[in-house]
Amino acid sequence: MTAYVPLNERALEAFDALAAGGVEAVTHRASPFLALYRTERERSGLLAELQAIRDSGQSEVVFGQLTGEQARALEPVLTDRVGAGVQLYGQRYLHPPEFVGALAASVRARGGEVLEGSGVRSVRETPQGVVLDLGDRERRHDAVIVATGAWSERLTRRFGVREPVQAGRGYSFSVPVERMPGGPLYFPQQRVAVTPLGDRLRVAGMMEFRRPDAPLDARRIDAVVDAVRPFLAGVDLDDRQDEWVGSRPVTGDGLPLIGRTSSERVFVAGGHGMWGIALGPVTGMLLAEAVLKGETPEVLRPFDPLR
Ligand SMILES: Cc1cc2nc3c(=O)[nH]c(=O)nc-3n(C[C@H](O)[C@H](O)[C@H](O)COP(=O)(O)OP(=O)(O)OC[C@H]3O[C@@H](n4cnc5c(N)ncnc54)[C@H](O)[C@@H]3O)c2cc1C
Repeated sequence: MTAYVPLNERALEAFDALAAGGVEAVTHRASPFLALYRTERERSGLLAELQAIRDSGQSEVVFGQLTGEQARALEPVLTDRVGAGVQLYGQRYLHPPEFVGALAASVRARGGEVLEGSGVRSVRETPQGVVLDLGDRERRHDAVIVATGAWSERLTRRFGVREPVQAGRGYSFSVPVERMPGGPLYFPQQRVAVTPLGDRLRVAGMMEFRRPDAPLDARRIDAVVDAVRPFLAGVDLDDRQDEWVGSRPVTGDGLPLIGRTSSERVFVAGGHGMWGIALGPVTGMLLAEAVLKGETPEVLRPFDPLR
């Protein structure tokens, strides 16, 4: 946690910097953001974690405790199976496909190129620059950042990166709702979160360790549905669309890999596990300094890809 604190504290301002820089990547303020439990006893684990985060030096952890009734008054979509809650303040959420689409559009608008459907087979350093093998052709660059998530080991191993990155796979789908919640609802015991996604509600959960390209396992979707069904009213969990499985890049020691490799021109940004969206912009901001100035910011030291 101590290593994460400086990143967490700048995470939201990095989203604002993107917006101020003209990227149309929108974040929504969660009003409210609730973590929900059957009982007060179940809730005690999260309260201890939040206290531990404060103890590790992160000052802006603002939250309040709610009874089940208070939680339902804030979010009528909750059933009476909810017996206790935590309201977290200052939280935001986003629409992932729209957000990433806005980033790509901004790169293109600034004269950058986004090659879709191109796989990099290898990265190698030459005296003239870093060469990417795309199969049918090669490209040469002054510097390269490998940000290939759960697939990163194959490209980074030759540059001295030994920390393993595995796929911690999560499942999601969207469903219609009678009344959209005002922000994300998180069910920590069930390991499921639901988030407004346009006019549908996105339901996401599960942590499955399998190879990143393995097919979607429908039983996992059923397990997510069964886990969350008792807590939600006016949500049609059987009218599912957008069923999806995706790979969180999870490192062995729980810290991301951000920084230079054994090559001065090859960098890594990845391995953020469950936090790659929240910490993506701040990672990019800090890593840009390392690439452009050749000096790694002090706060990135714990994430040294060569550890
Ligand atoms: C269900 C679920 C819920 C989540 N919820 C949250 C959340 O609430 N908050 C949060 O912060 N994070 C969340 N995450 C985690 C977040 O999605 C990840 O941490 C993040 O996507 C990691 O970003 P990345 O760019 O490192 O890797 P990825 O998003 O995996 O992107 C890597 C990309 O590299 C491409 N690629 C791989 N190999 C090659 C190659 N050889 N050549 C070219 N391209 C290649 C892949 O196709 C992929 O597009 C969630 C994840 C899941 C699955």
